[in-house]
Amino acid sequence: MGHDHDPISYPNLRTQAIESLLVEKGILASDAVDRVVSAYEEDIGPLNGARVVARAWSDGRYKTRLLENATGAIAELGISGMQGENMVALENTAEVHNVVVCTLCSCYPWPVLGLPPYWYKSPEYRARVVVEPRAVLAELGLEIDESRELRVWDSSAEIRYMVLPERPAGTDELAEDQLAELVSRDSMIGVAEARTP
Ligand code: FE
Repeated sequence: MGHDHDPISYPNLRTQAIESLLVEKGILASDAVDRVVSAYEEDIGPLNGARVVARAWSDGRYKTRLLENATGAIAELGISGMQGENMVALENTAEVHNVVVCTLCSCYPWPVLGLPPYWYKSPEYRARVVVEPRAVLAELGLEIDESRELRVWDSSAEIRYMVLPERPAGTDELAEDQLAELVSRDSMIGVAEARTP
């Protein structure tokens, strides 16, 4: 699977032209593409990733498996699919904060996070987060203390990353499904922390 492309690029226009032609010739049902897009936007969204994070927070052995072999651990929850064949989970700690980008285009772990947000694909985010990550995160509302190491991970066609955010304080009593509600999409990209209850 190659790299994805910007919304208003030549390949995107070409894709739209091919789609129109296939529909016009009756080869492709006009709603087939919409159904795939809607599945990734609504059914296969960040809720999947939130389930993975909540399980890792609740079960130390699952967390170990996730950090050792994310693709396998994610598949244990019945989550897999294209753009997620080779997953790596990055653990945020008091010492380290991880953030994910695709500097070349918009590679993103679809099965756990759905489709990427617009800003993730923007040239500004892709160029700046590798050069001045603390400034970019601050603009997005996340201040990372200078004492914490900040690691920026560049996705590729082969490897897709998801961040395992830190479990918020005061959540010892919460059940797994309640924990999952604290896990935002942005916290799994690394541009936010998990919400506090
Ligand atoms: Fe990419």
